[in-house]
Amino acid sequence: QNQSVESTTDVLIIGAGPAGLMACHALAKLGIRVRIVDKRPEKLIAGQADGIQPRTMEIFQSYGLLERLLKEGNQIHTAAFYNPNAHGTIELTDRVPDVTAPTARYPFEVTLHQGAIEAIFMDSMAASGVEVERHVAPVSISLDEAVARVYDKECYPVKASLRNLFNGNLEVVNAKILIGADGAHSWVRKSLGIAMEGEQTDYVWGVIDIAEPESDFPDIRNKAVVHSNHGTCMVIPREGDKVRVYIQLDDGAVLQSIAANKNKSNGRIDMTKLAVGPEDLLCVAQKILHPYTLRAGGGKFEWWTVYTIGQRVASQFSVHNRIFIVGDACHTHSPKAGQGMNASMGDSHNLVWKISAVLNGWVDPDVLDTYELERRKYAQDLISFDRKFAKLFSGKPRTEQYQDGVSHEEFLQIFQTFGGFTSGIGMRYLGSTITDADHTNSTRGIKVGERFPPRPVVRAADSRPMDIQDLLHSDGRFKVLVFLEGEKEATIALEALSIELEHVTRMSPANNLFAVTEVLTFIAGTGDSPRDVLNWTSWPLMLRSHWSKIFVEKPDGAEYSPEVIVVRPDGYIGKIIPSHSLESQLSNYFSGFLRKKTQKSTCYIGPGLDQS
Ligand code: FAD
Repeated sequence: QNQSVESTTDVLIIGAGPAGLMACHALAKLGIRVRIVDKRPEKLIAGQADGIQPRTMEIFQSYGLLERLLKEGNQIHTAAFYNPNAHGTIELTDRVPDVTAPTARYPFEVTLHQGAIEAIFMDSMAASGVEVERHVAPVSISLDEAVARVYDKECYPVKASLRNLFNGNLEVVNAKILIGADGAHSWVRKSLGIAMEGEQTDYVWGVIDIAEPESDFPDIRNKAVVHSNHGTCMVIPREGDKVRVYIQLDDGAVLQSIAANKNKSNGRIDMTKLAVGPEDLLCVAQKILHPYTLRAGGGKFEWWTVYTIGQRVASQFSVHNRIFIVGDACHTHSPKAGQGMNASMGDSHNLVWKISAVLNGWVDPDVLDTYELERRKYAQDLISFDRKFAKLFSGKPRTEQYQDGVSHEEFLQIFQTFGGFTSGIGMRYLGSTITDADHTNSTRGIKVGERFPPRPVVRAADSRPMDIQDLLHSDGRFKVLVFLEGEKEATIALEALSIELEHVTRMSPANNLFAVTEVLTFIAGTGDSPRDVLNWTSWPLMLRSHWSKIFVEKPDGAEYSPEVIVVRPDGYIGKIIPSHSLESQLSNYFSGFLRKKTQKSTCYIGPGLDQS
């Protein structure tokens, strides 16, 4: 007899891939009651995605997870390009830096298999007492729309029935929020009737992971894009000696076998029936790489797959801001630019602090609207980039005989022009209540909507060189960065600042400014030697709630711009205010989304619903 139990949680996450784990890890660290389930009986051992982009590394740093990623992963600093030569084989055309993003803190890619990346999250989550519940899948979900906008401590509008696939037992989980992170074939998305917009392409690719490659290819430890007369492949060096090869498949027999085993409705290929194996894929790669050789030592392949590329974005990313979809569940594209896992974790990073702030009752639930606004736009941009990139990638190379082909210059131009985009560094969020685009530029070359870039400073108390980006921890709080010129200018700006911070304090839960923000102060100076570091103890306490919150910043040029920059909890710039016009601007920004305090009610009912 199967048993059924009922329980409650704040957030329930379906799917423990990179997107689900990023969300779960962050929510657990923020003190939110969270559960995560996955239908897989075991964690991922090999395969799937492996590329971590520079912006994702910055995000890992903000959660304290970067050290392990760098220790375990392989770094890619150089990209090499090969094209056909007059003898019909391939030759090196160019080598360029792999990452084109001048402000990247970590200007390289890291490759590490998806399972190892997932383990980084799981081990860190375990310290907060949260583990993935495996072999569990939802059988139904429902949302009580009548109370979807009621944010009360005891209000759980989402109901999910979960089946334990080991013993068949059912559990009804009542949740405040549900996150569907269940991959490209998302059950959550389908059960909500959310459509995917876009198309399936005709490109068919194979992937092989070789544990012990034997090769004389000179760029076997660089990223190498190889266009040949026999097709295209991409070589990706991995952790240890491993190498991954992506191979474009246009061999008639291979394509026939794939077409015969492809499910017409969902595009899935039944790998068990394919008349193609990893040896066949390696054979194609060997032809492309000729005159160089590549063999799998011991004939061993760690993992392999074949797939067709769908370039699609979900028509909506949320239902009443109570059920969200993240990652591959809401966007799919080719893996050529190494975006899948990064975009997926980026969705969760964007969403979780908003969920935490809403559930903790200090921001208006409408802030959750910005998840779809920001991440759907990003996903659409990603798909249009992917269309261009995948086409160039899969196109035949230009040769003397084939003048209509893709030239190296064309390919390199796209590769570098979109470097800011593919690295994740150049992404900019649209204006909203949390991203106030009224005054967008700082003289520090910083723009509202972009992530706060690295900037060296010296900590005043102990003359320790630091980077501002490292101070922007993902701890759920807004960072108020106060840049002051010096004693004289500061006295004027400080008055206005203290009035503004006082207003924000009154809006903050329990009148505690530091529940919602962290104030970090930077004073112009050289900081070159201990003698040049300012006397930090003479500054007002509001600017140095702790000795570690006050710094010396060296001016970029002769001019120094005093200003206040508000950075959102996810590291993106929400507001820039020149210090001469501080009045009302800081408090207006926060009053745009901080929840209004009411005297009698413990329950907030958002606009649009009748309270009766
Ligand atoms: P996923 O990593 O797909 O995670 C989804 C999780 O949800 C999985 O653990 C799954 O078991 C779980 N799940 C699914 N349905 C349910 C359900 N009903 N109930 C409970 N749990 C559920 N990217 C590349 O860059 N290069 C590649 O070569 C590559 N190959 C891939 C091969 C395969 C077979 C797959 C599936 C993906 C591949 N990807 C590749 C894509 C890459 O893995 C994703 O972009 C990335 O992992 C997205 O993360 P995610 O968390 O959104 O989804």
